[in-house]
Amino acid sequence: MAATIIDGKAVAQRVRAEVADEVAKLDEKPGLATILVGDDPASQVYVGGKQRATAEVGIEGFDHRPPADVSQEDLTALIEQLNSDPAVSGILLQLPVPDHLDEARLTTLIAPEKDVDGLTPTSAGLLAGGKPGLRPCTPSGVIVLLDEAGVDVEGAEAVIVGRSNLVGKPLAHLLLERNATVTVCHSRTRDLGDVCRRADILVAAVGVPRLVQGDWVKPGAAVIDVGINRLDEGLVGDVDFEPAAERAAAITPVPGGVGPMTIAMLLRNTLTAAAIQHDPSAPRG
Ligand code: NAD
Repeated sequence: MAATIIDGKAVAQRVRAEVADEVAKLDEKPGLATILVGDDPASQVYVGGKQRATAEVGIEGFDHRPPADVSQEDLTALIEQLNSDPAVSGILLQLPVPDHLDEARLTTLIAPEKDVDGLTPTSAGLLAGGKPGLRPCTPSGVIVLLDEAGVDVEGAEAVIVGRSNLVGKPLAHLLLERNATVTVCHSRTRDLGDVCRRADILVAAVGVPRLVQGDWVKPGAAVIDVGINRLDEGLVGDVDFEPAAERAAAITPVPGGVGPMTIAMLLRNTLTAAAIQHDPSAPRG
């Protein structure tokens, strides 16, 4: 069986176009504030990409770049100022922050209605409790890709490899919300291959190149590869793509699968955040 390749780039482009259309209809433009502490090159690339995408869809960008030695107090004051600024609909603190800063405390400060990364304890609690709220961008992008590929999530056996707060755990809740039967695997899981072979939906979010072998894929499964690993040969995912694609019904490539969805979902979350602030009864997520 040769799998359908799920074109994340095309889906992300469509989401971005939809956001741009919605923004164009608004009298007040939504605003996205990004905070990048210090000059980590990878983070600079990520934040630059987010700000460019923001401008493309007509969302106003506020690009804050405090120095690497900024104090916890000054960063706290910045987040509080952005929380109370009506021009700012969403706030994104680019992680990781330098070691002298208390990342968890800073994240907690972000007002839940402006938490476009969906990573504050309030947003995580709302998701775990099955209540409306802003959802983390990468896992939301995975759900959109499954829908796009026509995967029937209800009742499906879903196996997620990776239990991070950023991807694995929130994705487990999103799949439960859609009535999948969810198993979350991690570095201590026994017989990982056997667990993966049960999956109708197999998601890899690990950060180990080609960990998921072709023969771990159940014939006809949907395989979503969140992994981004930089090797000399280029970017590779957490799934051994070629043999996995022989068995899967649908599979995401790396690059061009989940990656482009993250920024698209950030833009959508910013639009949702603006709607919530304008009308607290607006649908959340
Ligand atoms: P993380 O390091 O926080 O978590 C990795 C998880 O994998 C952990 O739960 C760990 O228990 C598990 N794990 C590690 N080794 C394992 C093994 N041998 N067998 C089974 N499980 C194992 O990583 P993360 O932030 O969730 O990111 C995972 C991958 O996804 C990375 O490659 C990252 O670059 C990528 N990522 C991509 C996007 C995107 O936009 N596409 C966004 C976030 C993360």
